[in-house]
Amino acid sequence: MKIMLQFPEGLKAMALAEAAKLEKQGHEVFVAAAPCYGACDICLDEARNIGAEKIIHFGHAEFMKVKSDIEIEYVPYFLDVDWKKTGPVIEKGAALLKKEKVKTLALTFPVQHRENSARVKELLEAFGFTVKLGMGGAHVRHPGQVLGCDSDSVKNAGDVDAVVYFGGGKFHPTGIPSDKMVLCIDPHLGDSYWITEEIRRVERKRKGSILAASNAKCFGILVSTKCGQVNLAGARIAKKKLEEKGRKAMLLVANELNPIALQNFMSFDAYINTACPRINDDTDAYGKPIVNVADLKRLLEIMV
Ligand code: SF4
Repeated sequence: MKIMLQFPEGLKAMALAEAAKLEKQGHEVFVAAAPCYGACDICLDEARNIGAEKIIHFGHAEFMKVKSDIEIEYVPYFLDVDWKKTGPVIEKGAALLKKEKVKTLALTFPVQHRENSARVKELLEAFGFTVKLGMGGAHVRHPGQVLGCDSDSVKNAGDVDAVVYFGGGKFHPTGIPSDKMVLCIDPHLGDSYWITEEIRRVERKRKGSILAASNAKCFGILVSTKCGQVNLAGARIAKKKLEEKGRKAMLLVANELNPIALQNFMSFDAYINTACPRINDDTDAYGKPIVNVADLKRLLEIMV
């Protein structure tokens, strides 16, 4: 069988070993080399172009049902935690929560920590907290799981005093637009810390981009062809609404949208992003305001 393997950036080191296993079984194996940030980005075009019959996507849970004649298998990748070192990190987190008089919390984590989440919940409960796990939105498969673009599990956990994110890095927790305090318990860094202020800063930046874009005369509307990100209907609506406001607007289509791809489009004053809502995390790198299509209504309301 012709098989295409796809790994997110953090797991590309596994490619050679995984390919060798399948080759030993007699398969012809290819590895997708383009950057991959989520299961919204299945390498369908590459697989079709080389005639692959199957894609094996590592490291993410299924994001959506993909319409394709190519079989897709999702292979989860769970991270191990050294509990001897992580116990004190959770203890520090519990002390920070108690200082703020937190009693009930929403526990959330990326899919790589799904297997560890039950133990984290137990440990937090042993410190006297009521721990709730909500179900995420359409692209989430497990209670408590978050994606960079989906933190509904927090909202759906119900009434809580605070949110606890168990996992590494700041990408996921800064995507939690909660009005509650958010605490990171990071077993990789070996530290627990509040991230609430950083989340508020992201939100202020988002509002700043909307305000700046309201003065723009000409918009580029970003459309990704990644199977889980394509939103042509949203892009068409954005174009129509902006034109009704007397603005010029053009649809810009690419598989991967980034500052390099856009840097020579000098005519646009601002962008509307219909793709991954996190591509504008680094707004400064684009040199122009970027507004997610989810904020289009807000933008249109303040345009004169
Ligand atoms: S945050 Fe972006 S890259 Fe990650 S799953 Fe969502 S759309 Fe895909």
